[in-house]
Amino acid sequence: MEKKIAIVGTPCQILASEKLDKYKDELLNKNQVSADKNKEGINSTEEIAIDFKVSLFCMENFSYRSLKTYLKDHNIGMEKIKEFKIDKGCLKAFLKDGTVFNIDLTKEILFKRKNCDICTDFAGNLSDISIGSVASPKGWSTVIIRSKKAKKIIERMNNENHIETKEISVNEKKILENLSSKKINRNLKNIDKRESISRPVLYKRSISNEKAKELSLECSFENLESDVITQGACVLCGACEYICPADIIQIHNRRPQKFGDCLEQCSNCFLVCPRTFLSKEIAKNNFDNYLGNYIDILLVKSTKIKGQDGGAVTALLVYLLEKKIIESVFVVKEDEELPWKPKSILTNNIKEVINSAGTKYSTVPIVFKALNGV
Ligand SMILES: Cc1cc2nc3c(=O)[nH]c(=O)nc-3n(C[C@H](O)[C@H](O)[C@H](O)COP(=O)(O)OP(=O)(O)OC[C@H]3O[C@@H](n4cnc5c(N)ncnc54)[C@H](O)[C@@H]3O)c2cc1C
Ligand code: SF4
Ligand code: SF4
Ligand code: SF4
Repeated sequence: MEKKIAIVGTPCQILASEKLDKYKDELLNKNQVSADKNKEGINSTEEIAIDFKVSLFCMENFSYRSLKTYLKDHNIGMEKIKEFKIDKGCLKAFLKDGTVFNIDLTKEILFKRKNCDICTDFAGNLSDISIGSVASPKGWSTVIIRSKKAKKIIERMNNENHIETKEISVNEKKILENLSSKKINRNLKNIDKRESISRPVLYKRSISNEKAKELSLECSFENLESDVITQGACVLCGACEYICPADIIQIHNRRPQKFGDCLEQCSNCFLVCPRTFLSKEIAKNNFDNYLGNYIDILLVKSTKIKGQDGGAVTALLVYLLEKKIIESVFVVKEDEELPWKPKSILTNNIKEVINSAGTKYSTVPIVFKALNGV
């Protein structure tokens, strides 16, 4: 029986999960491959559907290595840091000794990840619901409702007093649109610059569904490496590692690498990568539609949960689990030993979801692999 799974992630991670769903029929099935090799079955592509997608707004992400070097130059070791927060263009490092170190992001662009320079989705347009802080007062979340099921759930949560909601004002909505348009227009220029020096950015090209499939099915890991990974376009989403039927991809030193020989006629990793061809069917919108398609935008605050902003994400996930609308969810939590170094988990444990509240400003490959055990 298929299990109901939810995911919370950045727009690029949501795009990866969307491609995993959309290319179900084209993917070489792991079960089939393992049965053919007389091995224990490890997965079935029928199990990969992700039923509820929660996107975080995302302007950019940070390179852990560069951030670490920058802080070291200021005599701050990562082990001294309890958490990071972004407030009014400032990245705040909260130290365990109670002091706060401020980094002005308008000046210090050293640790922005290069692949984020070509990202054209701020608001997580492919999700059921997108959540961020921009445009809402302190302690509230801005929530873009995109699907009918998300609308129904938010209404029920409001009626049952799990959340408070407010209408977004015209001015607040303008702020949201402006930020998204700023990111998209800036990064479209970056894409043009890259392409002008022959560094292809495949996912920007809007092509038909048939063409996207046809082109992708001619490609394998070598193409992924040359067209995405070495081009500085990989977002480290973890989808290729999960979907490889030969289990030969591993993310090592923050880079997907292949350890072994590919299967014949396999294009799985290339098909699901969010930085390869994007068909019109998947992309849905064009680059002028800054917030994507949506039903409503609200300001939301959890009545019980303390999150990064209004706690809307965690309140929603807890509700989905409590009401058995989903059975498990991918969240990102802090590693107990290295609190600043997050990791992705698939869990059905409500306490664990509550403990995962808060933004981790780092790229975290989603453990899509955990779906193998579902
Ligand atoms: C890299 C990054 C950049 C962001 N940039 C912006 C921005 O420019 N503008 C803006 O308005 N909002 C941005 N956000 C979103 C914002 O920081 C809050 O996460 C959002 O407002 C939700 O707050 P909340 O209180 O509702 O969530 P909470 O209830 O605190 O829950 C947060 C959820 O996010 C998940 N999560 C945390 N870190 C990550 C991560 N690195 N990858 C995947 N999932 C994660 C956790 O699993 C948790 O479930 C960004 C988030 C990230 C991760
Ligand atoms: S590529 Fe970077 S900017 Fe784009 S959604 Fe992913 S983390 Fe955010
Ligand atoms: S690495 Fe090779 S075998 Fe694995 S998914 Fe990619 S093309 Fe297929
Ligand atoms: S190369 Fe792999 S990890 Fe990188 S963006 Fe593509 S699918 Fe994700």
